[in-house]
Amino acid sequence: MTLPVVYFVLPCYNESEGLRHTADVLKKKINQLIACDGISGKSRILFVDDGSKDGTWDLIQQLHYEDDALFGGVKLAHNRGHQSALYAGLMQALRDGCDAAISMDADLQDDVNAVDEMVKKFSQEHCEIVYGVRSSREKDSWFKRNSALMFYRVFEWMGAETVPNHADYRLMSRLALEALSEYHEVNLFLRGIVPSIGFKTGKVYYVRGVREAGESKYPLKKMIAFALEGITSFSTKPLKFVTGLGVISILIGLIMLAYAIGSVFMNHAVVGWGSVMCSIWLIGGFLMVSMGIVGEYVGKIYLETKHRPRYYIETAF
Ligand code: UDP
Ligand code: MG
Repeated sequence: MTLPVVYFVLPCYNESEGLRHTADVLKKKINQLIACDGISGKSRILFVDDGSKDGTWDLIQQLHYEDDALFGGVKLAHNRGHQSALYAGLMQALRDGCDAAISMDADLQDDVNAVDEMVKKFSQEHCEIVYGVRSSREKDSWFKRNSALMFYRVFEWMGAETVPNHADYRLMSRLALEALSEYHEVNLFLRGIVPSIGFKTGKVYYVRGVREAGESKYPLKKMIAFALEGITSFSTKPLKFVTGLGVISILIGLIMLAYAIGSVFMNHAVVGWGSVMCSIWLIGGFLMVSMGIVGEYVGKIYLETKHRPRYYIETAF
C-alpha cells in the first residue's frame, strides 16, 4: 500500500510571533505520522502568507531555507482574507500532487493531535472529507458561544448546509479538492461550500484551545461581515422574506382602505393625519430595508460577473 502524501495548509496573516512554534509542533506531528507509517515522507507543510506586514513571509522563507522538502510557502500579493488565502493554499497543494490536504489555523488553536484520527478516517475508512468538530465551546466567551449558535440556526433555517461547531479545520482528499476547484465564486464561504460538495465524510472531535501567540485577526466587525457573507452567498431566502414583507404591507394597506371607506359611511371619518404619517414612515422603512437586501445580491452578481481573479500568487515553492 502506498502511503498518502498529506499537505498541511495554514493561512497566515501577521503571524510572525507564533509561526516558528507552529512549525516546530507540526514538524514533530508529521515526523511522528511518517514514523508510524500513517503518511508518506513526501508530506509537507504549506504556509500561505496573506499579505502580512510583519515579517511573516521572511520567516516562511527562512523555514523553507532550513528544510525545503518539508516547508513550502505561497505568498499572496495582497491581504485577501482567511478564506481566499486558505483556498489559494489548497489549490497549490492540489497542483503539487497531494493525496489529501489538512487545513488549519496558524495559531494552533485546533488540536493537532486530531490529525491522527483524520488521516485514519481518510486512509482506512475512505472518507473524502473529514471535519474537525469542537466537542465543546466552554472556552469561548458567552457572546461568541451564543452568537455562533444563532448563526448556525439562521444558516440552516435559510436552507444552507453546514457542520455546526466546525470551522476550517478539516481534511480534504484529492477528489474533494478537485471538486472544490470547480467552484469559481468570488464570495468564498468554505464552511458552506465544502458540505455542499458531497462524498463520504467523517467527523473528528477535539477541544479548541486558546490562541498561542499574537492577537485574533477576527474582530467583531469581521465576524459579523463573515456571517453575512455566509448567509447572502448561500441563500436567497432574504429575498423571499422581502416579498413576504411586501405582501403584508399591501394587506395592511387594504385593511386601512376598508376602514377609511367604512368610517365615511358611518359618519365618523376622522382626518387621519396620524395613520397617514405612520404608514408613510413604515412603508418607507420597509422599502429601504428591502432595497438594501436586494442591493446585497445585486452587489454579489456584480462581483461574480466581473470574474475577477481571487488572488495573484507572487511566489510559490
Ligand atoms: N487569517 C488570514 N487572513 C486574514 C485574517 C486571518 O489568513 O485576513 C488567518 C490567521 O492568520 C489564522 C486564521 O486565518 O491562521 C484564523 O484567524 P484567527 O486565529 O485570527 O481567527 P480566530 O481564531 O480568532 O477566529
Ligand atoms: Mg485563531
